[in-house]
Amino acid sequence: MSLQIAIDGPAASGKGTLAKTLAMALGYDYLDTGTLYRAVAKLAADAGLVHPDGSFTETDIVEIARNLTLPLGNSDGLRTSEIAQIASKIASNIAVREALIDKQRQFAKTPPNGKGAVLDGRDIGTVILPDADLKLYIDADVEVRAKRRFLELSAKDETISQAQILADLIERDTRDKTRKTAPLIPAPDAQIIDTSEMSAQEVLEIAVNLVKRL
Ligand code: C5P
Repeated sequence: MSLQIAIDGPAASGKGTLAKTLAMALGYDYLDTGTLYRAVAKLAADAGLVHPDGSFTETDIVEIARNLTLPLGNSDGLRTSEIAQIASKIASNIAVREALIDKQRQFAKTPPNGKGAVLDGRDIGTVILPDADLKLYIDADVEVRAKRRFLELSAKDETISQAQILADLIERDTRDKTRKTAPLIPAPDAQIIDTSEMSAQEVLEIAVNLVKRL
């Protein structure tokens, strides 16, 4: 069986950058599971199924989640703060999460290139791949994360202040950490890496060394 690497952590912790570069370094396939929740959120929002207060009808959203197929096609418009907030709200719904579980496990079990899979998200080490070969929990100071996300979004011309991003991150992290289903917590056997004072290259080197020891 091919190797499975689970990477979890809060928003803008550096887990996506690590997951992508680690998969590339190892020749593994990468699945950013946040894009699944974001894709469901965008399809629902575009169809007018999300009310201004963020509420929705469960059956509508579950239907969208069930119909999602991998690989996702067009990812335009998924990485905005608005879609992130809607994604986090719909991700609190147990039926939506259940509709996406098998798609993630299937990817990990049969990655396109057959060598191995790196999945990043919030519940990969705890729920999706409890038997992953390596589990990493990536964290960083919330101010550092807000700055990173600000630089990422400003590069894409999204006009949002760093203070607003900080408030959004805190709101989203709190929802993700306190929800009843699959909350964001480190798996008991995860290695925790705080990236606040590390470069992306340093984090990658740590992860590559951990994989070499498997
Ligand atoms: O990682 P990203 O910021 O793209 O995720 C968007 C939202 O999707 C998160 O705030 C979280 O609520 C949800 N998510 C999740 N479980 C995952 C990945 C993402 O609940 N495995």
